Amino acid sequence: MLKMSQLKKKIRLQIFKSQNRDKEKYTCPICNFHGPFQDVNPETGIRKHAMCPNCGALERHRLQFLVIQTLLKKLDFSQKKMLHFAPERFLKSFLTKRFGKYETADIEMENVDYKVDIQELPFLDSTYDWVYASHVLEHVPDDKKALQEIRRILRPGGIAILPVPLLCERTIEYPEPNPYEAYHVRAPGYDYFCKYEPYFSRIEKYTSDSLPEEYQLFIFEDRTKWPTDKCPRRPAMMGEKHIDIVPVCYA
Ligand SMILES: [Zn+2]
Repeated sequence: MLKMSQLKKKIRLQIFKSQNRDKEKYTCPICNFHGPFQDVNPETGIRKHAMCPNCGALERHRLQFLVIQTLLKKLDFSQKKMLHFAPERFLKSFLTKRFGKYETADIEMENVDYKVDIQELPFLDSTYDWVYASHVLEHVPDDKKALQEIRRILRPGGIAILPVPLLCERTIEYPEPNPYEAYHVRAPGYDYFCKYEPYFSRIEKYTSDSLPEEYQLFIFEDRTKWPTDKCPRRPAMMGEKHIDIVPVCYA
């Protein structure tokens, strides 16, 4: 029997589906929901078809999930150890099942295994086989130090997955954190992953257009309106459909 909270969620989902029956339909690879996706409207502006209305996964989560799934098909991680920074709740059960040991870390979040600063980690060298930190480095003042630390705690042959929001052509460093952008200290550009190169032997990049459209992995955002009062340092960009990239970095 369904619990009351599950029943409410099911009803909410049915209402959402019927109210949005004319919208494009997509599939969420994380929870297998099929139907219209929800637009989101954070301080930075509307993003169309961004969120799975069932599990809450956003564009970046679906792309990262598909990339991790692709890697897991090629390599066996059942005896490997993962450290997940700023862990997303809907990925927890998937990752816990696939890795021998799954641990979490964050500087502010409660209910993580380690409350730590990514710029100065308390772990020994070569402790982890995977480090996963999505949309973390754009919040970190000394991102070079963070990259150095991530590389230090990775075992030889280990993997780091370190995506950031890609908001312009060339990375812009902010003079102070922007509260309207969740305290980002920079707008990473398509050039940002060059910064990773000194720390890793190889970087593979998976893009939104390299995987099936049915999962909706693009960022539908009108960036011609930038800069705005709340995002004064984001430069205007052409178009309303932008690619996202997941960099897979090999130690
Ligand atoms: Zn979902």
